[in-house]
Amino acid sequence: MLFKESRGNDGLRAESVEFSEVILSPIASFGGIYCPDNLPEFDQAFLESQVPESYKSLALAMITLFDINIDSNILQQALDLYDQFDDANNPVPLIKLRDKLYVSELYHGPTRAFKDIALQPFGVILSALAQQRDQQCLVLVATSGDTGPAALETFKNRDNIRVVCLYPEGGTSDVQRLQMVTECAPNLKVIGIEGNFDDTQAALKSMLASASFNQRLQDRGISLSAANSVNFGRILFQIIYHVHSYLELLRQQVIAPGDKVILNVPSGNFGNALGAYYARKMGLPVERIVISSNANNVLTEWINTGRYGIVDRCLISTTSPAMDILKSSNVERILFDLFGHQRTRDLMQQLDENGCYQLDTKETTQLQEIFVADFCSDEEGMAYIRQAFDDGYLLDPHTATCLKSWDSLSLNSLATIVYSTAEWTKFSPVIDQAITGKVDSTDQQALESIARTANIKIPRVITALFDKPICHPSVIAKSEIEEEVIRFVS
Ligand SMILES: *Cc1c(COP(=O)(O)O)cnc(C)c1O
Repeated sequence: MLFKESRGNDGLRAESVEFSEVILSPIASFGGIYCPDNLPEFDQAFLESQVPESYKSLALAMITLFDINIDSNILQQALDLYDQFDDANNPVPLIKLRDKLYVSELYHGPTRAFKDIALQPFGVILSALAQQRDQQCLVLVATSGDTGPAALETFKNRDNIRVVCLYPEGGTSDVQRLQMVTECAPNLKVIGIEGNFDDTQAALKSMLASASFNQRLQDRGISLSAANSVNFGRILFQIIYHVHSYLELLRQQVIAPGDKVILNVPSGNFGNALGAYYARKMGLPVERIVISSNANNVLTEWINTGRYGIVDRCLISTTSPAMDILKSSNVERILFDLFGHQRTRDLMQQLDENGCYQLDTKETTQLQEIFVADFCSDEEGMAYIRQAFDDGYLLDPHTATCLKSWDSLSLNSLATIVYSTAEWTKFSPVIDQAITGKVDSTDQQALESIARTANIKIPRVITALFDKPICHPSVIAKSEIEEEVIRFVS
């Protein structure tokens, strides 16, 4: 399997590269990203052969199709981490919510949000590659709350990897912050930044672009890598659970072999949705992929009109913060796959320069043959959380956006899989408000209130957070980040 660059080749880099290269250095020519050149395909017989198999063997079979250059023992070690999920036999359970409406729960890993599914195996692979090349890697993460804990968890105590994780002080939930500042290991550094998530991300980006910063790392023999979803190493593991959830529908005899389904994804950086797109292209019988958004509905506009525009928008803080994104990075891989590198480069340049681009009618139609989209306000989301609770199911505010689009788009003639990306414990104040009416609770109060109301237990990993010692107390100004990072890696 070879990878090509989304914006074409600048003549300085290789024209196509292997998987290991893409993982270690994910940034391509002209600021583009790496995309699979030729996706492998599977047929009906492949799917049927996987029905009796486990999640891990499906993952291995899918990755084998990709033919990537990773040793099989490293791959096995990476996939064995799924044994640490709540149910080792089924790390991604599929639950029936209503007739023809199923929820694929992606949050049963150590940090209780779906980032674990890809980051857990990714951590093993990145560390193994760095060791093989005798390379020291620095992974810089800016997080709004879910990626940080998952990255720290997967990389802690791993050889040849150091992680610096930046979070906006006051911009995450208490649980998310505690998941980070109590994660203690010599190769981890967590820093609170005075400012919001945009400031944090902007500070990181300008540091990554700084020649002097890169030189200082090079002087210390350290190379930079990325653990966000521009890294294809994460996307690979996000194709698998879409196929798995389809197999679950077959196992539960909701559908027959060959039947088409709808996949409904709560979207931010479009990694989850891109995994669904690739799964469909590889042969999974998917009628449409529904892109669900919150009030930051840039993706809804893109799919419904062909216009991608951020020039006339400000980022809105919503109750589904992991989807508070305007520039959705993985959209670029869709552009590349549908329209090629030259068009992608033009469109991304327009977006950088003018803050928007417009697809033509033919391109927009092509997009709409695959995707449909809608968005959900915070108030609507609360109502869906309330309604699901009355039906006996606890929904998080990200997943709630999918129920809105399930209703509004009336695609319910086919079975739908909605992807649930976070456990109730990670966004408890909103959920508590939706089901009990209490406002302004702390995470701890809200967790207890929900547990009482729903008669369920708060998972141990969450309650334990409130008693763990804090080993990363620092909160600093943006201007101090670079020195802090250099001090840590020296
Ligand atoms: C990261 C995240 C999302 C968005 O996923 P993308 O792959 O970036 O589109 C949605 N919900 C939760 C809870 C998340 O952590």
